[in-house]
Amino acid sequence: MLGVMTVRDDKIGQLSRLTATLVGVLGRDHVLTDPDLTASYTVDWTGRWRGQAAVVARPASTAEVVAVLQACLAFQVAVVPQGGNTGLVGGGVPADHGSGPDDLRLVMSLVRLGRLDPVDAAAAQVTVGAGVTLAALQRHVAASSTGLAFGVDLGARDSATVGGMVATNAGGIHFVRHGGMRQQVAGLEVVLADGQVIERLRGPAKDNTGYDVPGLLVGSEGTLGIVTAARLRLVAALPFRVTALIGVAGTAAAIELVTALRRHVPALEAAEIFYQEGLELVCRTAGLVSPLGSPLAGRWRAYLLVECAGADDTVTDQLAQCLATAGVDDEATAVATTPKGRQNLWAIREGHTEAVNRLGVPHKLDVSLPLGALASFVPAVHQAVAGAASDATVVLWGHAGDGNLHVNVVGPAPDDYTVDDAVYRLVAEMGGSISAEHGIGRAKIPWLHLTRSGADIGAMRAIKQALDPTGRLNPGVLLPPEELLG
Ligand SMILES: Cc1cc2nc3c(=O)[nH]c(=O)nc-3n(C[C@H](O)[C@H](O)[C@H](O)COP(=O)(O)OP(=O)(O)OC[C@H]3O[C@@H](n4cnc5c(N)ncnc54)[C@H](O)[C@@H]3O)c2cc1C
Repeated sequence: MLGVMTVRDDKIGQLSRLTATLVGVLGRDHVLTDPDLTASYTVDWTGRWRGQAAVVARPASTAEVVAVLQACLAFQVAVVPQGGNTGLVGGGVPADHGSGPDDLRLVMSLVRLGRLDPVDAAAAQVTVGAGVTLAALQRHVAASSTGLAFGVDLGARDSATVGGMVATNAGGIHFVRHGGMRQQVAGLEVVLADGQVIERLRGPAKDNTGYDVPGLLVGSEGTLGIVTAARLRLVAALPFRVTALIGVAGTAAAIELVTALRRHVPALEAAEIFYQEGLELVCRTAGLVSPLGSPLAGRWRAYLLVECAGADDTVTDQLAQCLATAGVDDEATAVATTPKGRQNLWAIREGHTEAVNRLGVPHKLDVSLPLGALASFVPAVHQAVAGAASDATVVLWGHAGDGNLHVNVVGPAPDDYTVDDAVYRLVAEMGGSISAEHGIGRAKIPWLHLTRSGADIGAMRAIKQALDPTGRLNPGVLLPPEELLG
């Protein structure tokens, strides 16, 4: 009993000394300890991942990030970096405090790092702070009138931050044309666990001077350092866009069509897939109407949402020509070229996430398969989920051009991993990856070994050990405990 009291007293003292230090650096308004104020930082977007934060610190500059990290090191407090908190694998929300004396958790919210440098038109690059949202970045580049745009886009654009997108190596809806965040990062400013700053924001297009240390932070999920700013590559802004919703017989037909589009329509920018049951759910819960008629009529098992972008409306002709050659009839296609019409078609695809959340707390299993395996994966995954949880509801959608399917399962309790296990094992057997774009976070650690070898995980652990020897940064995220290495 005496031991427990001592530990608790130590923790209270440790916390109040940390808080006082942080208030001295950030001011009272940006050091939150009241549970009513910290609550929104400790639960994720889905409600599946939640925990405790002794403090939420909101630095507004690189110097303040350094000071917060040094205080956490001195007071032995773990740091959970957080951006827009739209990540879907629990990487940006803290776990519960443990019972030891040195396991308090601080959430470092980076949304105040709002630097927006002028667009460098000659280099086609821009430097922005880690807390800038994707939508703010898009607006900033558009307002520069340089004829440039940012190549990554995703549904969480109003909240997801540049720092979070770098840390998760976000993919998104334009991956098929421009790749993901890794392809856009020309340089980063990062603060290492001990407070040292590495700044590579100067932007020469070519720079072969040894290890790309900041590049290690891409996809590191807050475990190696804090991203404070990013220098991002930009692409040509393409003013003309055509969007088409296409009904198809099933996954195999969808993949065949995407293959033809990739070959014959270089303007292809997005190729999203969803299914009859998902469309029906979105129409029912969001009050939307499918331009191809009721999904319950059962004419099409799967749907592709395709977008092409180019300098002028010849892209519409290219798309129409390719669809005609592929034998897609007019009745199976709804096309829009106006912003409003395109937005209505996109609302059907982007409405899936919200619609599934309304059914309950989803298990979001973001996986990728070799394109040739996708068609047989779809019935197999329904079977695997039914075998693990017969009452579960399964809704699938994804980025068809990348072999990326989001398997959403509602029904099993948030802490019941039976379905997750069945799906990840199936994915591994079929040569896929257990994380296409959301990362490992807290959600997928026990299955990392299914698609990463022991040597691979050992090298990751060595990098972690080198850059964060005391393990202060995002403990319990991404890397498995030693005993899971097999
Ligand atoms: C509706 C919806 C649609 C989505 N669509 C896509 C999609 O198409 N493609 C896709 O890839 N993802 C998608 N996501 C997932 C999510 O938006 C991305 O993972 C995004 O990159 C997370 O950014 P964030 O700022 O919200 O990061 P957070 O959720 O706050 O954090 C994510 C991870 O990054 C770390 N982190 C955050 N900021 C920093 C920083 N500055 N330095 C170091 N580490 C940091 C956190 O510790 C955590 O591990 C979607 C999510 C939603 C809700």
